[in-house]
This record gives sequence, C-alpha cells and structure tokens, in this order.
Amino acid sequence: MNIVVCISQTPDTATKVAVGADGKNIDAKGVKFVLNPYDEFAVEEGLQLRAANGGEVTLVCVGGDGAKEAIRLGIAMGADKAVLVKDEERADSFRVVSGIADVVRAANPDIILLGRQSIDYDSAQVGPMLAEMLDMPCVSFVTKLEISGNAVRAERDIEGGKEVVETSLPCVVTAQKGLNEPRYPKLPDIMKAKAKPIAEVAAPSVAARVETLAMRKPADKTGGKIFEFSPENVKELVRLLHEEAKVI
Ligand SMILES: Cc1cc2nc3c(=O)[nH]c(=O)nc-3n(C[C@H](O)[C@H](O)[C@H](O)COP(=O)(O)OP(=O)(O)OC[C@H]3O[C@@H](n4cnc5c(N)ncnc54)[C@H](O)[C@@H]3O)c2cc1C
Repeated sequence: MNIVVCISQTPDTATKVAVGADGKNIDAKGVKFVLNPYDEFAVEEGLQLRAANGGEVTLVCVGGDGAKEAIRLGIAMGADKAVLVKDEERADSFRVVSGIADVVRAANPDIILLGRQSIDYDSAQVGPMLAEMLDMPCVSFVTKLEISGNAVRAERDIEGGKEVVETSLPCVVTAQKGLNEPRYPKLPDIMKAKAKPIAEVAAPSVAARVETLAMRKPADKTGGKIFEFSPENVKELVRLLHEEAKVI
C-alpha cells in the first residue's frame, strides 16, 4: 500500500507564544516546535496500515528548514521517506495544499492521511481542500479506520456520537484523537533518523488567497464576580451569564 502522511510542525502547547513585531505573525523566537499532535495519529495509522498491507509510508511537509525536526520525528516513528516542500514564508491553507498536491500526484498514493487540524492556525482546511484538488473522497475526524481491498469503512466523531461511513481508495482521511495510540520513537531510531536524507522540492509559486491582517492575544481576564445567595442575585446571575458571558 502506498501511503502518504502530511505533517506540519506547530509550537509546543507548553510554549508561551507572543505576537511578533508586525502584529500579523507569532514571534517564533524561542518557540519550541513539535510535530502537530493530530499528525502523530496520522503517522501512527500510516505505520499500522503498512504493517497490515505492506508498502511504504512517505511523509510530506510544506515548510522551511525548521520543519525538518518534525519530519525527523515522523521518520523516527517509522516512516520510510520524507519530502520537504520548501516554503520559508508562513503560508495559507491553499498555498500549503498546492505544495502538497504536486508531490502527492507524483507519488500516486492509495491513501493520504492528515491530522484533523493544525493546533497553531486551527483551520482544518488542508485535508478537505487537498481531496478536492485531487478529486478524491475525504473522510474527516476519523476515530476508526478499516480497509479491505479497495473498500474503506470509517467511524468519525460527530456531536454527541459516532457516524459510520464507507468510501473507496484512493481517498483522504483526517485523523482525530482516539484513532490509535501513537508510538514513542526509541532513542536509537531518533539517532538513525538524524542521518536519513530528506528529499527537498521547491514550492510551486502560488499566491496565498487569505491574508492575515492582525493577530492579537485575548484580553487579560478580569476578576470574577461573587454573589451572595438570594432570589434577586440568581436572576442577576442568569442575566449576566446570558447577556455578558453569553454562555446560556
Ligand atoms: C512560526 C511559524 C512559521 C511557519 N512557517 C511556515 C513556512 O515557512 N511555510 C509554510 O508553508 N508553513 C509555515 N507554517 C505553517 C503554516 O502556517 C500552517 O501549517 C498552514 O497555514 C496550515 O495551517 P492550517 O491551519 O491551514 O492547517 P489545517 O488545515 O488545520 O491542518 C490540517 C492538517 O493538514 C496537514 N498540514 C497542515 N499544514 C501542513 C504543512 N505545512 N505541510 C504538510 N501538511 C500540513 C496536517 O496533517 C494537519 O494536521 C508556519 C507556522 C508557524 C507557527
């Protein structure tokens, strides 16, 4: 089985992120980048599909040289090879997908796995957009995947339950937490991954379609309000929750 997994690097969730001087990007100085957590599920699923069906797992990442660290983690997990689509600028989803699509077309895969979304920009657009560009079916937020011949059966998270769907290969699948338990790469594999070559191709010259105008941190939280219990205060609390907090 020819398996492609698209991976992205994202800031570590434990890193304190600040807005950069241009007010449009994060300040990458001192930020620790990791493999996007949802992409770990995608890599793991690719490795399990390879174990069951044979074939190989190719990682594809659009990004700058800094993205190689995330790629090496995927290789250490067990991926066979990797392609870095060199794009040093922060790109919108369309430009990222355009970079991935050329590599994927050339690889002619049976299945393309992605995370459900990146945890930095949270668009959840790359998977469905890639499927559209390649004219393939797409199943998103998948928590269980079964493949038999060309038939694909997937379970996906929906509000308050699960949906079971069927499609056929080749297809695009985006991974949700729960799909599997991503393996921790062993130290020798991490060391070996450092020496593995990563193929590099130039990103296509595609203009971004979405421009970030401003980025700002949420306003600092103000102190909470405390009410003594009384029928009037219950009414006031309900009013504030409805009109100010807008949670009910
Ligand atoms: C400081 C910083 C610098 C960055 N620099 C660059 C850069 O130089 N060039 C660049 O192209 N991007 C760069 N990025 C990443 C880029 O901005 C996002 O990955 C891209 O916009 C996609 O985000 P999204 O929310 O649309 O992804 P989503 O649609 O939420 O992602 C869904 C899934 O698509 C896949 N995916 C997402 N992004 C990529 C990717 N880049 N490559 C392969 N698969 C992917 C993953 O499987 C992911 O789980 C940078 C990000 C940061 C924080």
